[in-house]
Amino acid sequence: MGACALVFAGFVVGPAAAVAPNPHVRVEVPGPAGGTAGAGYRDVPRSFPHTSGPALTGPARAADGQVTKVIDNGDTKDRLDVVVIGDGYTADQLDQFHTDLKEKWNEFLNVEPYGTYQKLFNVWAVDAVSAESGVSGDPGKDVSRNTALGAHFWCDGVERLLCIDQQKVDAYVAKAPAADLVLVLANSTKYGGAGYNEASPTLGYEGISTASAHGKNADQVAIHETGHSLGKLADEYSYPGVPEYEQYTGPETPQANSSILNADAMAAGRTKWFRWLGAASPDGGAVGTYEGGNYYVKGLYRPTEDSLMRSLGKPFNLPGREAMIAGFYRHASPAAPADRTQAWSTTARLSLPRANDVAHGKVAVRWYLDGRELRRYRDRDRVAVRELGFGRGSHRLTATVTDATSAVRDPAIRALLTGSTSWTVRRGSGAAATSDLTARAVAKPDAAPSSGTGGVAPRVGKGSSRDSR
Ligand SMILES: [Zn+2]
Repeated sequence: MGACALVFAGFVVGPAAAVAPNPHVRVEVPGPAGGTAGAGYRDVPRSFPHTSGPALTGPARAADGQVTKVIDNGDTKDRLDVVVIGDGYTADQLDQFHTDLKEKWNEFLNVEPYGTYQKLFNVWAVDAVSAESGVSGDPGKDVSRNTALGAHFWCDGVERLLCIDQQKVDAYVAKAPAADLVLVLANSTKYGGAGYNEASPTLGYEGISTASAHGKNADQVAIHETGHSLGKLADEYSYPGVPEYEQYTGPETPQANSSILNADAMAAGRTKWFRWLGAASPDGGAVGTYEGGNYYVKGLYRPTEDSLMRSLGKPFNLPGREAMIAGFYRHASPAAPADRTQAWSTTARLSLPRANDVAHGKVAVRWYLDGRELRRYRDRDRVAVRELGFGRGSHRLTATVTDATSAVRDPAIRALLTGSTSWTVRRGSGAAATSDLTARAVAKPDAAPSSGTGGVAPRVGKGSSRDSR
């Protein structure tokens, strides 16, 4: 109970709304390795005093801040961009950081729905060069190292709470072109992490997960934290033995995986996860209403016995998976051209959000030329522009993509899963474009993503009304 009291001493319910500039930030404490997903929240300093030590020398300073697109699935406007920064890596250890980053991302991909939807993500590495190898608090509380991000265990007196200096992290995040989610890897084998699940008002990311790069189960902590930052999910664990969390008596909770209603009331009210009641969940058992969760022992229900929002090493449950997919699509477009560079090409090609397979449901594609559907291209991911019959001038080629996944049942979320994107098509590019009908037929994608309303055929633009089809 001594250790529990230590961890519980400072907790408060849930992540707070972002209030900046606040010298403190609310972070989730990971649970013990392989155990409960979390152990409450702490308010910790946003920045920490600088640890003195040797400064970076010339070559190390030159390597510092290098940005690499490690996983490239498209333009940042179309994709959920994960920015990964290492701490406690010297200039000589940057290759190791890149190896660690790929291993950690592969751990994400082992967890659904990350694996199925991996094409919705870009992953960026920002090299942060530390003067010393390893991070503070490893192995002991008294160990202090001079590192780029100030990562340290024993944050707020909790050994496995791995805090960072958010100002320093933000300075590196800002070097990447876009960040929707930030992951900080500490060069350590010690188990630990932290969830900073306040959205950044300046840089736009949804949260920072910290994890030790080589700590067993540390990836599970980071993925759990994205359940909050991306999925907006509640914790499904509770605080047994803490009197003020024995019984919840408040109003309905805002999160998709927490409710004051039992299964009968939920089904009758057609609310929360009623669409999933009775379905077999990947974390075991059937979706129902299991008492306990959102920190309370009684008075609040969770959808399944033991999902990743409750215990490390478990999958997301079905309502959690649906919420994660919704989170992915808040940042990534269902319809994205494979190449958004402003180059003319003989093929208009889509980068589909996932494989079109029977198990997960169809990814439906419809192509339109000047607003008229080209039925023979249904569900294809590309169109050879020379196969299209069109007259002089510029024309509009549009693709709408609908991810009809069986993992989403809520119509409000389904609406996020349809989108469209367009190309300008014509014969010839550059100066020869206007009248040379013998020139090659080419396409160029629009510069910006179209809105995700989808399914609506494009308007016919001026000068493009003559459709030879
Ligand atoms: Zn949590």
